[in-house]
Amino acid sequence: MWCSTTFDCLIKQFIWYKTTAFKLKKAIIIFSGGLDSVCTAVYLQPKFELHAITFSYGQKANQEMRMAKHFSRILKLKEHKIANIKFMKELYEKTNVLTNSKMKIPSKFDYSIVVPIRNAVFLSIASAWAFSKNAQLVAYGAHKGDEKYPDCRPSFSKLIEQAFNEGEIDGIRQGFRKKVKVWTPFIAGLSKSDLLKIGYKRIGDEIFKTWSCYDNTKIHCGRCESCINRKVAFLKARIHDKTKYENDFLDF
Ligand SMILES: [Zn+2]
Repeated sequence: MWCSTTFDCLIKQFIWYKTTAFKLKKAIIIFSGGLDSVCTAVYLQPKFELHAITFSYGQKANQEMRMAKHFSRILKLKEHKIANIKFMKELYEKTNVLTNSKMKIPSKFDYSIVVPIRNAVFLSIASAWAFSKNAQLVAYGAHKGDEKYPDCRPSFSKLIEQAFNEGEIDGIRQGFRKKVKVWTPFIAGLSKSDLLKIGYKRIGDEIFKTWSCYDNTKIHCGRCESCINRKVAFLKARIHDKTKYENDFLDF
């Protein structure tokens, strides 16, 4: 770098440092405010500038939204958007317990918990945002324990990534768009308890404020499949679980 005077040189170096050096790549993260998405954000943050998106899709658990806002502040995410897609609740009809208020939430995995291609809906919107702002990664918090959910599996993530890039292939070839990579902790071989350890190390007791429950209760119900998975993950990670549950039992 050539400079006529020392002062000019310092200014130029400062501008270069601020604009070029250590500039992180952009990533879009689907951010529900739950344990998995918060810990995924912690995991990715050293390498990416994170732009988060939270979906309001008519789920019972509206505590999620409050916690998503809280953690986007705590983690100092670059940007956080809430996307209102509540009309999906009507389209989902009676397919699943998460959007249908009349159906009972099971405590063990049951296909009634599966919201039809929920991650495909979220990823389509998140990837449209990624292509628009030249983000190269679209992440969601699916992990090894989510095997029972077809749209959490790496086979699905890889196929939808391929489809998105094919859908923008001309823009990518001409240099208007950047290819996106759809990434999950599952692809990296991480389990829920692995994520928990990563998150706990960085945010400590704040982790107990993450919301996992499928129900719309004041504190975690402690009974639904998601609450049970949360309890088990804390046990496996050997972290004393300070989450307040309506039901503290662990029967599995
Ligand atoms: Zn629950």
